Amino acid sequence: MRSTAALALLLFLNAGVARPEVADSSANGFTVKLAFDIRATPDDVYRRLIGNVGDWWNPEHTFSGDAHNLYIEEKPTGCFCEKLPKGGAVRHLELLYLAPGSTLVFAGALGPLQSLAATGSLTIQLKASEGGTKLAASYAVAGYLPAGMNTWAGPVDGMLREQFTRLRDYVERGAKSAYKFEKVADGVYYAVAPAGGNSVVIVNDDDVLLVDTGVTPALGRELVDGIKSITSKPVRTVVNTHFHYDHTDGNQVFGPDVQIIAHDYVRTAMQTFDITHREPFQTYQTTTVPALIETLRHQAEGENDPAKKLALSVELARAEALPAQLLEVRPTPPTVTYQSAMILHRGSREIRLLHPGRAHTAGDTIVYLPRERIIITGDMLQGARLAYMGDGFFDEWVKTLDEIKKLDFDLVLPGHAGPFRDKGLITALQNYLTDAVRKVSALKKQGLSAEMAAQRVDLTAHAKAFPQIQGPGADIRGVRRIYQWLDENN
Ligand SMILES: [Zn+2]
Repeated sequence: MRSTAALALLLFLNAGVARPEVADSSANGFTVKLAFDIRATPDDVYRRLIGNVGDWWNPEHTFSGDAHNLYIEEKPTGCFCEKLPKGGAVRHLELLYLAPGSTLVFAGALGPLQSLAATGSLTIQLKASEGGTKLAASYAVAGYLPAGMNTWAGPVDGMLREQFTRLRDYVERGAKSAYKFEKVADGVYYAVAPAGGNSVVIVNDDDVLLVDTGVTPALGRELVDGIKSITSKPVRTVVNTHFHYDHTDGNQVFGPDVQIIAHDYVRTAMQTFDITHREPFQTYQTTTVPALIETLRHQAEGENDPAKKLALSVELARAEALPAQLLEVRPTPPTVTYQSAMILHRGSREIRLLHPGRAHTAGDTIVYLPRERIIITGDMLQGARLAYMGDGFFDEWVKTLDEIKKLDFDLVLPGHAGPFRDKGLITALQNYLTDAVRKVSALKKQGLSAEMAAQRVDLTAHAKAFPQIQGPGADIRGVRRIYQWLDENN
């Protein structure tokens, strides 16, 4: 044990920690029981307890002095361990039993107890309650000590009380950011937004590069808060994959010390289009958000399971905040632009910004990490999800996707849906785009209006790759754009 950690425990002992609530104690052992109310769902508490132990465990109670060396393996016999310098390690506890979102049982003697002839069993139970979660922890320790094991009951009670208080505060504070961060490579995180477009966080040697900033300034701030749970390094660079609101509306939360980089067209579009009074922002504001609120309200009212009801009411409250948050948007264009390619060197990391051609918009950027073999594609390529097509360049989009196929990569991080590896989905999108233009063009030649064509066009042959196709018809905004594009090109 680090001397300061042992000292901290001794200080607890000497300070006679405010009336230890020890359930029972004898010369052979003792049991400490603790209860906490946490304003978050049991799933949230469980996730952060297991997955973010380094963020809430007091570093004073570690061997290395850095809680980020701790980790918990989520499996039976999983190690609650700590990495030490030069390949060293220490096992703090071992996971005996896990029921995600409800129960964890660990075996082992914590901290200084480890050097005594002592064993322990720590049971943590999480139950949904009116205000969130009731956490009940019970730590039973048995062993031999000349002075009696019960002399340790007070310090252990104090130490656990402190750790669980830290967990509670962390979960409640951390819950401010509804972003979920999925680590996909060393220092590369896919950030899943609670609404709108997803982002990618690239943690470099000295700083952070963020790809896309979220659907509102409020979510942009949450994203920045969430990044603080991953790293203390500052965001110094933002890249916008394209100008659409759900990828740029968080731009305004960054100060002048942060460079915002995008294709030339993104700056032009954000300066000259009135983007909060045009598509796709308008449909989001007037239709998508109200429909989302309605659906969530309905689901929350009809839900009987208290944990699910709480999760839905949290989601509903977030959705209800969106209309006001959208009014806060002040389109903030990039401060650095490029035309066809730009290579950034951030410490040892190489980040290439590529514009292989027009596609989803006239100014799409692919962010390519050659060493990590990752491409970040915005809305140009979303895997098994079809993008908004109202600003598309259809035949050029197909050619641009051909260029992307030439890059050397294994993993795609799109602006919506989630990471994927199946390159067959690129060809599936090319086929869809080609077929959509061919079929809409035929309907246009028959004299149909765009509205009629949008109802009539049958793209169900692509439903296997794109499950959102549920029957004939297509988004009117995309069909209108194809009509316009056909007029421009004939
Ligand atoms: Zn888009």
